[in-house]
Amino acid sequence: MTYVSYIYDSHSIFRQFQLNMKIFYTFIPEWYKINIRKNYGKEYLIMLKLGSHVSMSGKEMLLASAKEAVSYDADTFMVYTGAPQNTKRKEISALQIEPAWEYMKAHQIQEFVVHAPYIINLANSVNPETWQLAVEFLALEIERTKAMGSQILILHPGSHVGAGVKTGIDRIAQGLNEVLQDSSCFIALETMAGKGSEIGRSFEELAEIYDRVNHNEKLRVCLDLCHLNDAGYDVKNDFDSVIDRFDKLIGKENAAVMHVNDSKNECGTGKDRHANIGQGTIGLPALRYAVHHPAFPDLPKILETPYIPSDKDPEKKVAPYKEEIRLLR
Ligand code: FE
Ligand code: FE
Ligand code: ZN
Repeated sequence: MTYVSYIYDSHSIFRQFQLNMKIFYTFIPEWYKINIRKNYGKEYLIMLKLGSHVSMSGKEMLLASAKEAVSYDADTFMVYTGAPQNTKRKEISALQIEPAWEYMKAHQIQEFVVHAPYIINLANSVNPETWQLAVEFLALEIERTKAMGSQILILHPGSHVGAGVKTGIDRIAQGLNEVLQDSSCFIALETMAGKGSEIGRSFEELAEIYDRVNHNEKLRVCLDLCHLNDAGYDVKNDFDSVIDRFDKLIGKENAAVMHVNDSKNECGTGKDRHANIGQGTIGLPALRYAVHHPAFPDLPKILETPYIPSDKDPEKKVAPYKEEIRLLR
């Protein structure tokens, strides 16, 4: 599918064909898909799931998110359950979950992912009350994620704020052990750029968290390409080695989401500033390579690139996602 789409991707007829194929594809049993891949090469019948971060607000909430995703020709999307920098949240009953799913089904969106707010810091060892609040809020996020019909809650592992990586990882594992006991969804730990005292800058650190978590069958990883680059992994020139390293330490079947971002900084600078697709140090060919990589055919791939000045009114910023999704297909 993917190489056919290289040729036709701007044609709406092909888009319709692709959507039809996707419906058809869902009826093929899993064992047969594996068989197809074995016999006809890795890229055969891989269905790209590309989307972006979208907002969830107003009266329509999740329905608005789904509509925004469809307006970008996306096959998936990511939402925060409210403002990422605070813990104010609407009731689950106000999220418009059912109409959203009706709309998604009508537009061939089969899954989306949720991102926990980045103020949750499970690595905090300085203030026990803040940590306790973070754990409680995370438990609620898990409930919301499940209620919304998503399986994946993405979480930044946390920052040790001076206490050291070891102590930070201890706290993270403790927190995860509290919420994962009867978790109905997976928590995907995001690979971080390593700015400040962020934990998760290396696969080793994430593997360490896996080791300390009792229900680590409920853990997954979100591979953020900008963060990997900034943390020192050579996404631009040698993505295969990055995957090998990940596979050895954590297992590539543990990758659940990919964040597709270019980077404003060179590899290893530990910065975390996202650039638009093809405008950064990773570049379009390497990002396309990662998105189409046969190691991760089924992952939702989510853009978190910055808004750009509008053509019509340079004062106004608009989402670049429709164009960037097209570039990556
Ligand atoms: Fe993130
Ligand atoms: Fe990210
Ligand atoms: Zn980032």
